[in-house]
Amino acid sequence: MPELKYKRVLLKLSGEALAGEKKHGINEETMGEICDQIKKLVEMGAEIAIVVGGGNFWRGRNGKEMERTTSDYMGMLATSMNGLALQDALEARGVYSRLQTAIEMREIAEPFIQRKAIKHLQKGRVVIFACGTGHPYFTTDTTAALRAVEVGAEAILVGKTIDAVYSDDPKINPNAERYDHITYLDILSKDLKVMDSTATALCRDNKIPLIVFGIADPENMVKIIQGQKIGTLVTD
Ligand code: UDP
Repeated sequence: MPELKYKRVLLKLSGEALAGEKKHGINEETMGEICDQIKKLVEMGAEIAIVVGGGNFWRGRNGKEMERTTSDYMGMLATSMNGLALQDALEARGVYSRLQTAIEMREIAEPFIQRKAIKHLQKGRVVIFACGTGHPYFTTDTTAALRAVEVGAEAILVGKTIDAVYSDDPKINPNAERYDHITYLDILSKDLKVMDSTATALCRDNKIPLIVFGIADPENMVKIIQGQKIGTLVTD
């Protein structure tokens, strides 16, 4: 088996990453391509935990007729739909996987139990975490940082629709600088759109490297695990 740069990783997939061009709902082809690569990662001996977002269905800030907390809970429920879809797509490829949710929904998923999640990872199962932290006013980015610490992930792979971190939106500003390597403090001080500040601070406090990469080419995940320099590395 090839030498892996990272053995246990947490993959953060935004809802948008599963939506394809339409940016809403699930594009099964797009999701399938991502799952093909996750299968490769598992076959290479990597242990994969996934935190999935829900922005392709709902975001807390969408609600005008409801309280923020209600709207946030709807966002968390949205992530469970993505989690269920991912679980099926992985199992269809012969990749054993478990969906764990931070809000109990026992009929369709396991509740989040840290020790159980680690056991699954050790057995080569992909663990998908849905429903965020289970609390409003948080994001799935913060969940990614939290779960990464809880399961002892060596790095967080942040799959974005853009291929790296830039000083500005490169679609709007052609002079935007592309970063190969930045620090957590750069994200906070320059207000770079990588992860929200809570998530960034949690990664910084626990010294978990982030690798921000373009999910449009899901093979990037394999390259990163093999140690190739892809996207932007965020460290201390
Ligand atoms: N959310 C929340 N608490 C959490 C995680 C998520 O309230 O711990 C809600 C929040 O409303 C958020 C929505 O779920 O807007 C979907 O998550 P997110 O926006 O992080 O998804 P992504 O952008 O990654 O698709």
